[in-house]
Amino acid sequence: MDKITISDLEVFAFHGVLKEENSLGQKFLISAELYMDVSAVAKDDDISKSVNYSDICKEIEKFLKKNTFKLIETMADRLARHLLISHKPLRKVCVKVKKPWAPILMPLDTVSVSVSRGWHQVYLGLGSNMGDKEANIKKAIDLLDKEEDCRVIRVSTLRITEPVGPVKQDDFLNGALHMQTLRTPHELLDLIGRIEKELKRERDVHWGPRTIDLDILLYDDQIIQSEDLTIPHIEMAKRIFVLEPMAEIAPWLRHPVLDKTMTELLEIQNFLQEVELHSE
Ligand code: ATP
Ligand code: CA
Ligand code: CA
Repeated sequence: MDKITISDLEVFAFHGVLKEENSLGQKFLISAELYMDVSAVAKDDDISKSVNYSDICKEIEKFLKKNTFKLIETMADRLARHLLISHKPLRKVCVKVKKPWAPILMPLDTVSVSVSRGWHQVYLGLGSNMGDKEANIKKAIDLLDKEEDCRVIRVSTLRITEPVGPVKQDDFLNGALHMQTLRTPHELLDLIGRIEKELKRERDVHWGPRTIDLDILLYDDQIIQSEDLTIPHIEMAKRIFVLEPMAEIAPWLRHPVLDKTMTELLEIQNFLQEVELHSE
């Protein structure tokens, strides 16, 4: 990816744990690596399409004067997020904050913290089989998109699916979406849990009826296995109601464990379903 680099921009601001730091202020040196695709900008030699580094420098200064942080860790994290959210073309940002006047009563050059933040590509499975199913799904999508660190890019068509499993219940409406997020997988899991709660999902029967079900299908090409989170979603490759909408919005996307595209996985499941129907 292409990169614009800003090195050691001086900002006088009031961050720190000590109250003297908050009242007297001190110098911070900010470096930022801004990752974006500059090919379109370079082709037309047109600054209006680019991230203007003079604007970014002013933005960095404004942000660090407007907010006060105790730790340079927080400062770097918030600044990176702020730049990614406020400048659309940015895909990834590395921010380094140096503190040359760190009050430790010993000679030192600088103390610094570096963080790297970026937009992650995520696919979610959507489902509802209670109440106004379409409205429930739309509401969930709106609530996701409302978060400044989430951007919904594309939603599949929604389709009706017969319920699977032992519980007798109404048909489902299912779909999938592509979004970008700055959140970590667990932060995203917390958010979808909050949205499910807000839409009054009651978590009593596993695989039972629900106003909304949001599953994280894929997060970049990461493979995650922890007590409360498995990515890719453990059942996705077996479920036609997941693979159909995924093959619609990202047919070329490869499952990082099975190494097959969404289209290939769907073909396999359709074939297995055929075989099963014929053997009955
Ligand atoms: P299924 O996961 O088979 O579709 P479900 O969606 O009905 O079943 P839930 O009751 O919604 O299951 O979720 C149970 C738990 O699954 C959640 O509390 C969550 O911690 C965990 N979980 C693990 N991996 C994921 C994932 N990729 N996306 C969402 N939840 C997950
Ligand atoms: Ca589910
Ligand atoms: Ca779920």
